Amino acid sequence: METIKRNILLNPGPSTTTDTVKYAQVVPDICPREKEFAGLMKGLREDLVKVVHGDLEKYTSVLFCGSGTINIDVCLNSLLPEGKKALVINNGAYSTRAVEILQGYGLPYIDLKFAVDQRPDLAIVEETLKNDPDIALVHTTHNETGTGICNPISEIGALAHRYGAIFTVDTTSTYAMVPIDIEKDNIDFCMASAQKGLMAMTGLSFVIGNRSIIEASANYPRRSYYCNLFLQYDCFEKTGEMHFTPPVQTIYATIQALKEYWAEGEKNKWARHTRVFNAINRGLDELGFRQVIRPEWRTGLVSSAIYPDDPNFSFEKVHDYCYERGFTIYPGKISTTNTFRLCALGAIDEPDIVAFFEVFKEALATTGVNVPVHYNS
Ligand SMILES: *Cc1c(COP(=O)(O)O)cnc(C)c1O
Repeated sequence: METIKRNILLNPGPSTTTDTVKYAQVVPDICPREKEFAGLMKGLREDLVKVVHGDLEKYTSVLFCGSGTINIDVCLNSLLPEGKKALVINNGAYSTRAVEILQGYGLPYIDLKFAVDQRPDLAIVEETLKNDPDIALVHTTHNETGTGICNPISEIGALAHRYGAIFTVDTTSTYAMVPIDIEKDNIDFCMASAQKGLMAMTGLSFVIGNRSIIEASANYPRRSYYCNLFLQYDCFEKTGEMHFTPPVQTIYATIQALKEYWAEGEKNKWARHTRVFNAINRGLDELGFRQVIRPEWRTGLVSSAIYPDDPNFSFEKVHDYCYERGFTIYPGKISTTNTFRLCALGAIDEPDIVAFFEVFKEALATTGVNVPVHYNS
């Protein structure tokens, strides 16, 4: 097996993968309608539930061919009963995306906004739920990948349940990294795609959630032909297959990635991401970079650094310098502040970050940025 050039991706997914995951895609051609392939998907679906410690009787996973956003679309359009309302607890770009999906379907919703650098105020969340008995679904984002803030999902889930609503959480950027217990964390539905925490390839996404709620949604309005949760679930239950063509090679890669996930272990993997995250923060601190999210609110996966007030600082130039040397950095996702992001996802460890900062420092020096960087106020 030839080794493939290793790039260190510090963008928020897709992540750096192992060569064994890359090569797992190189398999004999197979028609996904064969029993052999359906058997592979059965094990995969169960493993995806086990990652969040779900009881296989109570919870199931439903696969979709698409990027992570398809999961948000599927959950929101499929799980809202006729005439009921969704409440989105929104402190960032990914919850805003959920709001845009609800708008796209013309569904009733409340967009409960909080500042992007603040955690949601639970008293306001409760007040909103108390005042509106039509709310049947509460949605939020676990790690707002745009900034790296961690939302208190277990507390929000408990409130949703107290007021009779189901709770869907976008865990795309925490699943298989931050330990999650679907039941203890009061989650009815969570979601992810294979290329983030699992360190596999793009094109496969999955919703993990409560079977009985999916079954209860069978008679809800069918708002999408392709992206309906019950239809896809029902097809899996009856035939073991996806309704339409699955991303075959990505599924092989994901199965290999799960083997590597179990081999590394939940605790060790989270410890490794934490090591990487700490090294990123140390590097940024040493260079004087300020960050958007205060330390105690950071999930531990995304660092959001603010552009310094140096006329020579150019994200593009720094990016290109690093990219040419095998390191990818990523722009921010906040409309009011110029930021760039460094993320602790993927098959990387502390020495990769040490090597990155050598290159990053050279990039700053070459482009004439003074370090430590300075801010005007
Ligand atoms: C990556 C991500 C998504 C999905 O983005 P895609 O570009 O559709 O894969 C959704 N939510 C969060 C929180 C994410 O980090």
